[in-house]
Amino acid sequence: MGFIADSLNRIQPSATIAMATKARELRAQGRDIISLSAGEPDFETPQNIKDAAKRALDEGKTRYTDVDGIPELKAAIVAKFSRENGLTYRPSQVSVGTGGKQVLYNALLATLNPGDEVVIPAPCWVSYADIVLLGGGKPVFVATTIDDGFKLRPEALERAITPNTKWFLFNAPSNPTGAAYTRAELKALTDVLMKNSHVWVLTDDMYEHLLYDGLEFFTPAQVEPGLYERTLTMNGLSKAYCMTGWRLGYAAGPEALIKAMCKLQSQSTSNPSSITQWAAVEALNGPQDFIPRNNAKFVERRDLVVSMLNQAKGLKCPMPQGAFYVYPSCAGALGKTSAKGAMIKTDEDFVIALLDEEGVACVHGAAFAGSPAFRISYATSNELLKEACMRIQRFCGNLK
Ligand code: PLP
Repeated sequence: MGFIADSLNRIQPSATIAMATKARELRAQGRDIISLSAGEPDFETPQNIKDAAKRALDEGKTRYTDVDGIPELKAAIVAKFSRENGLTYRPSQVSVGTGGKQVLYNALLATLNPGDEVVIPAPCWVSYADIVLLGGGKPVFVATTIDDGFKLRPEALERAITPNTKWFLFNAPSNPTGAAYTRAELKALTDVLMKNSHVWVLTDDMYEHLLYDGLEFFTPAQVEPGLYERTLTMNGLSKAYCMTGWRLGYAAGPEALIKAMCKLQSQSTSNPSSITQWAAVEALNGPQDFIPRNNAKFVERRDLVVSMLNQAKGLKCPMPQGAFYVYPSCAGALGKTSAKGAMIKTDEDFVIALLDEEGVACVHGAAFAGSPAFRISYATSNELLKEACMRIQRFCGNLK
């Protein structure tokens, strides 16, 4: 199709969005579908944040704003980084966009030249590689293993870096594995980065607050202040603040990079929604006590799902310490045939047959560059999770 740009042929539609859409379609046809594919909390946005948005509307805060964020929000972000991460930034070092996705997109598109490599630990979030490819760069996946809890080893990072490496793209707690790092584990990685002064660090801290078992959160520039001048620390409100639909993400880093990102945004979306920005000021400055309350529920659900999946024949499900995903291996199911006769050769075959035969929607590991496995989002009720895991057990038990 000559009319469509070549650059679009380099990328895939988001597999997580595709799976969620398929689940919605089947449900609309009357099928009993449990969707564990979406990466969003089932909790409501806290009331104080909704109220701030209503106030913004009533006060007429309905016009264009500064492209990369109102001063009040930049101040709240500066305060957040200082309070929670021990990082000092000026407002001119902060960029606000329409979701963390846009902020990542801005950073990569504003910096990549043809041939530039981006080192990405895998399994990884579906969009990283595609955004890099759109920007003309080359994603370089570094595999992690289930036995290492999907954590990147410093030797593997060292081996992946070449003279062409522009960015190291890091995400912990991780989507899709939930892997989280201790300070010492992170320091071992930043030590490698200190030895490679041409590599910039893009850290996606989206799941910062979704951390369990008493684990404390650290971000690269905090653990290694020597990286501050070449680190972009990205975060957002979608996950911990239950604001996926509001679309707000932000990052802080060196001023020249922030300016370049703003230039790109000024020619695409301009400012994120003015209403959302005022809600975000309240989210960051207001009470944070709903976060541990939500996390207690997530831990209960995680424990339930891990325990039930490990009772399914052929599955092996590690216990993650962050985010709201589990990432079981389905290696033991490959080469088998389902109750309705589907051949399970890949993890994609596995999730398609599971959806067809049991009405449970998950996302296959290939979409996250980590096969054979699949991702379950446990951000839904205990009842639905129990029913879904029971169906998965039945599906696996019937494989021959
Ligand atoms: N980064 C990671 C690791 C994610 O899982 C997501 C959302 O799924 C994002 C970034 C983007 O989030 P948003 O654009 O909703 O802020």
